[in-house]
Amino acid sequence: MKQKTLKKEIYVSGTGLHTGSKISIKILPAKVNTGIRFKRIDKLKHEIINGNIDSVINSKREVTLGRADMAIHTVEHLLAAFSGLEIDNAIIEMDADEPPVVDGSSRLFVDLLMEVGLEEQDQNRKFIIVDEPIWASSDDRYLVALPSDEMKISFTIDFAHPVIKTQYASFKINPEIFRKEIASARTFGFLNEVSELRKNDLAHGGSLENAIVIGDTGILNDSLRFENECVRHKILDLIGDLYLLEKPILAHIIAIKSGHSLNIELVRKIKNFINDNKNNKVHIKGD
Ligand SMILES: [Zn+2]
Repeated sequence: MKQKTLKKEIYVSGTGLHTGSKISIKILPAKVNTGIRFKRIDKLKHEIINGNIDSVINSKREVTLGRADMAIHTVEHLLAAFSGLEIDNAIIEMDADEPPVVDGSSRLFVDLLMEVGLEEQDQNRKFIIVDEPIWASSDDRYLVALPSDEMKISFTIDFAHPVIKTQYASFKINPEIFRKEIASARTFGFLNEVSELRKNDLAHGGSLENAIVIGDTGILNDSLRFENECVRHKILDLIGDLYLLEKPILAHIIAIKSGHSLNIELVRKIKNFINDNKNNKVHIKGD
């Protein structure tokens, strides 16, 4: 399978979910082996921030790359779109610190990328192959990567909340399934957490236009896109976080109540195994 980039640049503008910043981004095609790279063009110095695990500076509630003075917040929905569509190489120029939340999902990114089309490049894709189970856990949260010849995610969420409680979904991940079943699942939050989130400088751009808001007795939005939209969004987030490995991973990922922090912990573990040549847990196919 060949590496891919987008055929032509695309533009998206809007508001950041957590920072509330007004922002415009431009996504540009990139050469083979570039990976996903971010650039803050509002800064004097146009430094490149690699879209990989080594750039992660925060994984609480959202994933931030870069540095305090060169931060790129909430990259997961954009990374999920690249991963889901099997795009290897792209450069994202941003004039603020957080990509537009749009509707809280990856749908618009996916639609725009499909509209301009993708281009196969003259270099093969490499894959991460999991040879032995690798896991991360914290209290009753678990995230396990099992050997598999395709990427599959099985996710369970369980909230002590009358409206959402337990949801489970399992998908084989490929571009068709990603577009149809996952890309449009929106982010969600609990109404009773909004003031706490804002106290912690989060969710400043959040609204019913870009998030499912769960009240004490029901959903505040008019409707859901899927009956189990929340767990589908958690799968979307996980797909984005896993792409910080910079290559597709062939594994069956089983997630129980996982979130960004645990996702990032697993990605770090896998990356460390990749860096350790003598490991017998993972290897790269196509090297
Ligand atoms: Zn999300």
